[in-house]
Amino acid sequence: RTFNENYARAMKLFPYDQPNQHQYQIISRILQLKEKGVLLLEAPTGSGKTIASLASLLARRRDGEKIIVIVRTVSQMEPVMREWGRVVGGYDGFREKYNQDEDIMILPVMGKARLCKQLPYLRQHMKFSDMAVHFLCKSLPCKLFPTQQKFFKGQFAKPLAMRLNMSLAGQSKKGTPTIDRVHQFYSGLKSCGYYKQRELMREASIIITTYPYLNGNLLEATLKNMNVDINQVYFLIDEAHNLVSPSRISLRIEHVEKAIFLFGKLRILQNLHNLMKLSKKVQLHEIGSAEEIDHLRSVISECVKKVRDKYRITIADLSDNALISLNSFLSTIYNGDIIARKNRMEIVQSTPDVMLSELYGARLVVFQSGTFQPINLYKKLFGIHRAETLVSKESDVSNQFRCYLRYKGLTSAFKKRSPVLYQTMTEVIMEIVPFSPRHVLVLCPSYDFKDEISPIISEYIETHNLKTKVLEETRSTSSEEMSNLLINADQPYIVLAIAAGKLAEGVEVVHKGNSLISMVIMAGLPFSPPSKDKAIVMQAMTHAARDKRAAKQFMIQIPLERKVRQAFGRTIRSNQDRGALVILDYRAQDYLKQSLKLTRVRNIEQLKERLNILYEDFPTLKQLIDTG
Ligand code: SF4
Repeated sequence: RTFNENYARAMKLFPYDQPNQHQYQIISRILQLKEKGVLLLEAPTGSGKTIASLASLLARRRDGEKIIVIVRTVSQMEPVMREWGRVVGGYDGFREKYNQDEDIMILPVMGKARLCKQLPYLRQHMKFSDMAVHFLCKSLPCKLFPTQQKFFKGQFAKPLAMRLNMSLAGQSKKGTPTIDRVHQFYSGLKSCGYYKQRELMREASIIITTYPYLNGNLLEATLKNMNVDINQVYFLIDEAHNLVSPSRISLRIEHVEKAIFLFGKLRILQNLHNLMKLSKKVQLHEIGSAEEIDHLRSVISECVKKVRDKYRITIADLSDNALISLNSFLSTIYNGDIIARKNRMEIVQSTPDVMLSELYGARLVVFQSGTFQPINLYKKLFGIHRAETLVSKESDVSNQFRCYLRYKGLTSAFKKRSPVLYQTMTEVIMEIVPFSPRHVLVLCPSYDFKDEISPIISEYIETHNLKTKVLEETRSTSSEEMSNLLINADQPYIVLAIAAGKLAEGVEVVHKGNSLISMVIMAGLPFSPPSKDKAIVMQAMTHAARDKRAAKQFMIQIPLERKVRQAFGRTIRSNQDRGALVILDYRAQDYLKQSLKLTRVRNIEQLKERLNILYEDFPTLKQLIDTG
């Protein structure tokens, strides 16, 4: 098909009148990509990049080809399902498209930890971990296991997939199709939800799943279940900057001791045991040869699968994770740096290039993110030098005001923290808050910092006789609880939360698509705390990027910028929203002023003036809710 034909197809699927300028750029670029092309795409949060990417990939797709959308967490599947709901046009639209032979069935794919029907019982009564069920379900006498079922495998898969899709499409008319609805669907079946999902994968043309499915074995199994080769698949990887955060696989000394008890003193186990007592970077040959690693893995998997008596193993031994941890440690041993640290050993994977290499045989791969800078460094870290890039910049920022206040030495730097600083910071916060027509997010760099200013805020409210309500994030607060309270509130709250916490990261606090948060105050800057292996990660990054300065920027400045952008992103969820970002830390001048285009504000009066201009004629929380 020509570009124009594909463009016409994309526009037919596009659910709005006209694509905005970001969406137009994205659609054009994806439609122009060569076969086996890879695109790194950056566009601002809220610019509608997911719908643009999805419509373009659907337009390019030919018969028998499929789309896999990969998101970070299961809850992040919902925004993608919402966009799908808009593309299909609700229940009626879905039926109509289906009757016209348009292949648009979707399937969210989750692991056993979410779909196993026995898990609640096994967790409670047999102390099973989620990981243990993953390995053990075939060994358990589970009546729901497919071979125990009287129906033939695959029977009724199509009507079932259809039923699930109609239900999700129907839900999309009123809002967002939810993962809860998917759970309800599987719980209503008599068979195992996990294995039923596998059968439905063949029927779906769009699969949404999470990052672990990018790993070799799982990816291979997914493609097999979908009945496609990798060159028939289009990948869309959402918020792909997250792929670079270093991941750790950890093994404890008790796990190795348990393996020695079960399998005897194999040389490789003894080496692991001895090395674990040290604190150093370990070379692979110090642990054992490739043959020894393979041998131990096969012994473990035999044992886990068959629960053999001769190893004197019991369900309890398996369920405490020892062998499962050892197995996942051995399976990733080639993919990162191995570090022994007193009774523990870790594999630190700093760059995702090895994991992603499998993907590059696909028909197209689109990595998308709201923050992908420096984009050339990402190309190197993803191991794809031929990738194309598209950076779609924000054009209209008149609905935003971003600034840092350089005032009375405000900062969250450790050395400057004092009772006087906490007091001054609180007073400044409380002076700015009344200017926000909707909820205000006050984000602290840590729980410790928040615990210092929280009582001062309460005292301020009491002594000034204010009616302001405060909602505080704690380690145990659930994000649903917080967002529900804010969505149903009839007066603005001060939400005292953590910059890298649940609320700042991605909870939607919206009313009919408009944000209920209109101001974000950063009470200091959330730099990542120094960690022991930062040097090792840095070394790996420098090696991958061949650029020490860029690696340093990547390790310190970029994570900070991302946290601030992500938090501020809560304020702008639609074209009608307005948002202010106020950073109470002078260090913003060095680290964020340029990249976030911050205005420097010298005193509170100047800040108040700017806030008055920003919020002129902007509906308050109450007005927004009252007007429906
Ligand atoms: S067959 Fe299904 S329900 Fe049974 S243990 Fe395995 S995952 Fe759980």
